[in-house]
Order: sequence, then structure tokens, then C-alpha cells
Amino acid sequence: MTFSYRERLFCPGPTPIPGGISEKLSRDTYHRQQEFVNVFQQCRNKLARLAGGDEPIILCCSGTGAMEAVVVNFTTPDAQVLVINGGKFGERFVKLAEIYSCKVIDYPVPWGQSPDLQDLDRVLATSNPLTAFFIQANETSTAVSYPLPEIARLVRRHHPDCLIIVDAVSSFIAEELQITDWNLDCVVSASQKALGLPPGLAFVFLSKRAKKLLLTNDKRPCAYFDLQEELLYQDKSGPRFTPATGLILALNEVLDRLLAIGNAELVRRHQLLAKACRAALTRLELELFAKNNPSNALTSVILPSSLPARAIRDYLWQQYQLQFAGGQSKETQQMLRIAHLGFNDIFDLISALSGLELALTHFQHSFSIGSGVEAALQIFTKCQEVH
Ligand SMILES: *Cc1c(COP(=O)(O)O)cnc(C)c1O
Repeated sequence: MTFSYRERLFCPGPTPIPGGISEKLSRDTYHRQQEFVNVFQQCRNKLARLAGGDEPIILCCSGTGAMEAVVVNFTTPDAQVLVINGGKFGERFVKLAEIYSCKVIDYPVPWGQSPDLQDLDRVLATSNPLTAFFIQANETSTAVSYPLPEIARLVRRHHPDCLIIVDAVSSFIAEELQITDWNLDCVVSASQKALGLPPGLAFVFLSKRAKKLLLTNDKRPCAYFDLQEELLYQDKSGPRFTPATGLILALNEVLDRLLAIGNAELVRRHQLLAKACRAALTRLELELFAKNNPSNALTSVILPSSLPARAIRDYLWQQYQLQFAGGQSKETQQMLRIAHLGFNDIFDLISALSGLELALTHFQHSFSIGSGVEAALQIFTKCQEVH
């Protein structure tokens, strides 16, 4: 017997769009209307409150567009930069910095791990003065979360004037973020991860120091992604060019819901889902890929060679309309990544785990059916007792 299933997304972006948002996305709007400009500014203000920093520049592009914008605007040719490279997104910063002719120290971190702080300390102590330091908050390709405040302190100790530039696309809201308190200079995020919106908006948060540099330093010529122009314009009035109006209206609504939950509680919820997911996968006799510092946003697991990872993902989609993500490199072809991000809740995770157990049974993995779901429920039960 076959049922028809709802499509359910467990990939690390795009994530499910919460109810009541879709109408906003398709509303007719003129972006020069005062009412819309007010909404635009409210969005910037609410984003600042979620990030512990100043109002961001809102751009209309995916996360990578914002990553490119910050490389273009905050480096010059031959600028000395260091990039923490522990996965696909670290690699992306390396490539961007190289395309724009920076002198790149590519600091390798084995996939699945976070930087060895003693070694990083040594490299920072001996490197030439850095213009910028690039890092992910969450390396989504491995599901590792990096200890940002500690790392920012190390960078600051050896390179007081260096810009600390953080890709927080997948960590935003799922992990704690305090831009001002942690002394970060530039933090990038996007709409399609924990904010539960379609792709198309990106955010660039800047410290006072970064803003001053942007407004006074010579920089590369650029047009659409000129952050200096964009900051002046957005601070003074509204968006410089026609923005994705529907996304902005939807963003304003989503931000209200998130702020009503509160920063600390949002992180706790993500933490709980992550913990339950790890407990379930471990009980299913699967090997967690991120042994230390696992992310709150998603969990990565390596399947044994007896299980065909690609076929299992295809089966989950074709049979049950459950979308998981795979690995992002040759070495991680046996990886499954399960996101528990944004508006995904306890019962969404239970659906994902149930589907996975059915698929594992189909592919003759040996485990006791229901044990993964049971492990997750035990974590949820314990947390209810605490409350
Ligand atoms: C999703 C993601 C991005 C952005 O990717 P786009 O496809 O350009 O939106 C950047 N960095 C990380 C860590 C991500 O998870």
C-alpha cells in the first residue's frame, strides 16, 4: 500500500517555510513606498537584535554573494589573509580570496574537526600582519561548529587590526552569536537556513571598526555589491536597488516570531534537536562524523560501506518525500546530513528518523527498528522533566 506524502526538507537550506508566510511572499509592493521602507528598516533592526550587533546591510543574493561582497569590499589585491579551511565553505572563502588576488594563508583543518587552537595560535603568532581572517561559524559540509569567541580572541591577540570575517550562514539563530561582545567585524548570513525563508536574501553585519574602514579606505571598484554605497543608502533611506520585496515582507514576520521566542531559547531548541538526533543515529549503529564540536544546525553521519548512501537518499525522497543531504566531497560520499534547523520541530525530527529507519531496514542494515526514534524521545522526555 502506498500513501501520498508531504514533501519534508531535512537538508541544511532551504528549510521548511512556516505557516502563514507564503502570502507575504506574493504580495504586490512598491519598494519606494514609505510603508515598505519602514518594514525594511524594522527588519534590519530585528536582525541586529538576533545577532548582538548593529543593523546589517541587506543584499539580494544567496549567501555566497554576500561572501564575495565582503571579500571584494574588505580586501585589496595582495592583501594578506588567512582562511580557516575545514570543508566546502572554508574552501569557498579560499577560492574567493584567490580570485580577488589576495595572498592567502590556507589554514587546513581536517574535515570533521575544528581547528587545533594551539597550532592556530602558533601560526597566527608567526604570520605576516593580516588584513583579514576568514572563518565559518558552522562548517555545514562537515556539521562542525567552531569555537568562535576563543578563536576571535586568538586572532585579536596577534593581529589587533585584522578584520575578523565570519560566515554564519548556517549557524545564525542555531548557535549563539554576539557580534559586538565577541569583537567580530563582519558576519554574513542568508535567508534560507534557520530563518525558514526561501533563498534570495543575504545579510552583512558590520562592526563599528569595519564600517569606519569601509567609509574611509581605498577599495576595489565595484558596482552592485558596493557595500560603502549600500551602507550609506540603507542607513539614510532604504534599499538602493529594487529588493526582493516579498522576501522582505516575509522576513519581517518571521523575525517577529523568532524574537518572541528569544535568542537563548532558539539556541536551546536547536541544541536539543541536535542532541536527540545524535543519540538516535548512535543507537542506529551509525558513525557520527563530527566527533567534537558537533553543530546545532545539522548532524552528519558516515554510513558503513555495506550501505549505499546515494541510493538511500534517493529512496527516502522517492518513497517518502523526505529530503536529506549527502556529502560534499569525494571523501564524504558515504555521508548523510540531516538538518534540524529553523522551524523544524521535535516531530519533524521524529519523521526524519522514522523514514531513515524504514530506509535502513529496506537496505538490510542490522539494528532494532524503532530504537533510534526511542533514543530521541528519551532525550525529549528528559528535557521535559527538567522544565
Ligand atoms: C548555505 C551556506 C552558505 C551559502 O550558500 P548559498 O548556496 O550561496 O546560499 C554559505 N556558507 C555556509 C556555511 C552555508 O551553510
